[in-house]
Formats: sequence, structure tokens, C-alpha cells
Amino acid sequence: MKTISDMERLKNTLKEKGLKPTYQRLKILEYLDKHENSHPTVEMIYKTLSKNIPTMSMTTVYNTLSAFLKKGLVSKVTITETEVRYDFVTMPHHHFLCKKCGKIIDINIKCPIVNRKQIYGHRIDEFHRYIKGICKDCLKNEKNKRTDDK
Ligand code: ZN
Ligand code: MN
Repeated sequence: MKTISDMERLKNTLKEKGLKPTYQRLKILEYLDKHENSHPTVEMIYKTLSKNIPTMSMTTVYNTLSAFLKKGLVSKVTITETEVRYDFVTMPHHHFLCKKCGKIIDINIKCPIVNRKQIYGHRIDEFHRYIKGICKDCLKNEKNKRTDDK
């Protein structure tokens, strides 16, 4: 069986959504695909891609993500409250923000209201599944530091 390349697969993803698979769109989509769990900002994507693609601008990244958002290719994560992060995983899931290292971690648990359109007669337009705390890696580091002090 012939396996299609990652680039071919991403090209098809864009076409399926009615977006012309331009080089810059493909590169941005490839970044999101490779860093699926990093929930990058426009700036993070721009910084990495502009190193190898000098024609890539912040505006291009921003406009491309806006187009992806409109087509439901990505979703917005505003858990940090100060910035917009983008998520290539559009299946409903929760997010955990570590207040210490700033990592955003996907939490895949079943939620009883995830597919509801209404709650107590109110229409649901947006649904944020945000949890904040200290991640297990930071907890481990804290514990190690404490035992080092002794
Ligand atoms: Zn952490
Ligand atoms: Mn996510």
C-alpha cells in the first residue's frame, strides 16, 4: 500500500477545508502538526518559521491562523488570559495550565456537558475547559529541591 507523505496529507487537509494549499499555509500547518501539544502563539510560530522562510511575516502567520480558525482547522485557547494560543486538536478536550512553568497540557477526560447546546434553557456559544495548577514535573522538582535543602 502506498503511504502518502505528511506534506501530501496536510495538503489534502487544506483542500478539504476549501483553502488553497499555498507554501506558507502548508508550513504553518506543518508546524502545528509537529508541535501538536505545544499550543503555540502567533509569535512562537513566526519565530521558528521565519528562520528558514525569510518571506514569512507575523501578519501572514496571524492571517493564516485566522483563516484556519474560521474553517475549524484550529481552535483558540485563552487559558493564560494574556495571549491567544492555537490548538490543532479540535476534538473537545480540557486544558491544564501550569502556573509555574507555563506549560499547557491536554487533559482527555469525559465531560458530561461537552456536547450540550443548552444549559438550563441558556444557549451555549462557548465552552472553556480550563484547569490551573502546578504540573507533575514542577511538583517533582519542588520535592527534589526540598530534600536537597535538608
Ligand atoms: Zn510546570
Ligand atoms: Mn489542546
